[in-house]
Parts: sequence; structure tokens; C-alpha cells
Amino acid sequence: MIESISQKTNRSAEEILTTGLQKAVGPRVGMACSFSVEDLVVIDLLRKYAPQTVIFAIDTGRLHEETYEVAEALLQKYQVQIEWYLPQTEELQQLEREKGLFSFRESLENRHQCCHIRKVEPLDRALKTYNGWITGQRRAQGATRNSLEGIEIDKAHGNIVKINPLVDWSDEQVWAYATEHKLPVNRLHNQGYPSIGCAPCTRAIKPGEDIRAGRWWWENPENKECGLHRR
Ligand code: SF4
Repeated sequence: MIESISQKTNRSAEEILTTGLQKAVGPRVGMACSFSVEDLVVIDLLRKYAPQTVIFAIDTGRLHEETYEVAEALLQKYQVQIEWYLPQTEELQQLEREKGLFSFRESLENRHQCCHIRKVEPLDRALKTYNGWITGQRRAQGATRNSLEGIEIDKAHGNIVKINPLVDWSDEQVWAYATEHKLPVNRLHNQGYPSIGCAPCTRAIKPGEDIRAGRWWWENPENKECGLHRR
């Protein structure tokens, strides 16, 4: 689903960003924001290097209140607009009517169904309107991301360019940048949540655990993706 067009590593985030933006065929490039600390770093970089970039987000309906607070803080700090995408009402109503509110805990199939309705379909819908997209993904985020490249062709979304400027960054680099630039990070990070998704599918991690161990913690590590970043 994803084809790498950049095998070169250890390039700066700025270099990946500016090179990737040049490769995007068309003017409309979107930053997919989940309000993670990585996404805040990328948005801060975009204000300097590509302020015209649209910021978009998916409201799954199950996010933490703390995550919505970050969205509000971003509006205040940068005076930006966020394009929100929500699940299709009919599909969501049918899911909740037929399977209840916590079906994602019952099987991988059910979890994928919920992620598809709440996340994947809204993302697919959003990306139909973009010529390229930017994420805060890093290789250090775990088993499912260790083959990530800085610039990729996203075949699952019409061969648009996908740019991951922080691909080589360590946890320490991310947090040093966030602290230095006083970014409005999610309060949950200070409560043991290095990776934050939907509230019922995210828990705090224990010392020594992988940083994505708290996401869908009842599943195997190789399954810990929601389908947004199909590779
Ligand atoms: S993370 Fe959990 S609640 Fe959110 S869309 Fe996926 S399964 Fe549903």
C-alpha cells in the first residue's frame, strides 16, 4: 500500500518536509493531527516552513477530554483552523445498535470494524481532497513502524505523497523540542500515556513497556494499528 521514495535516513525534519512538499503534485497538503506530542512538533515546524498547510483531525467520538483541550489550545496558540472529519452517522448508528458500545474488546475483527467506521473511512474521505499528507509518525514508535520512511507514496490513497518529517526522531528529541517551544502537550502524557488514541482503547503504560503498549493492550504488538497507516 505504501511505496518508499526516500531510503535516505538521518535527514533533518525540515529537509524531509520541504523535499516532500515539493513532490506533492498539487497545492492542497494536509497535516493529519491526532494531537500527539509528535503532531504538535510537526505543526510548530509547519508554521515556519509551510504555514499554508491545512490541519485536519478525525473526531472518532471516543477521544479523551484532554485531547479536545489540546485542540483548543492549538487554536489559541497558532490562530489556526482545524478541519474536523466525523464518522458517517448511519454506519455508526448501525454499529452501536447491533453490537453495543464496546464491541472492539470482543475480537480483532470487531476492533477493526470500529476503527474502520470511526477512523479509516473519515481519513479516506479527507484524503480524497488532498494532494499529499503529513504525519508525526516515527520509527521508534514500535514494531509496526520500523520500516517507515521520511517520504513515501501512499498507494492506498491515490498515490499521494505521505511525509513523515520526524521519522528518525527519538523520544528525547521530541520532548526536548516540545519543552523548548512550550507546546500545549496533552496532560495525559504526564500520567503515563506516551501514545494516546481513543479513550476506551488507551491505557497508561508501566515502566519498561513499549511506548505503544497502552494502545489496544489486549492485542498482540503486530496488530497495534488502526488502519490509518496501511503499509
Ligand atoms: S481506537 Fe477503539 S474506540 Fe477508537 S475507533 Fe478504534 S476500536 Fe473504536
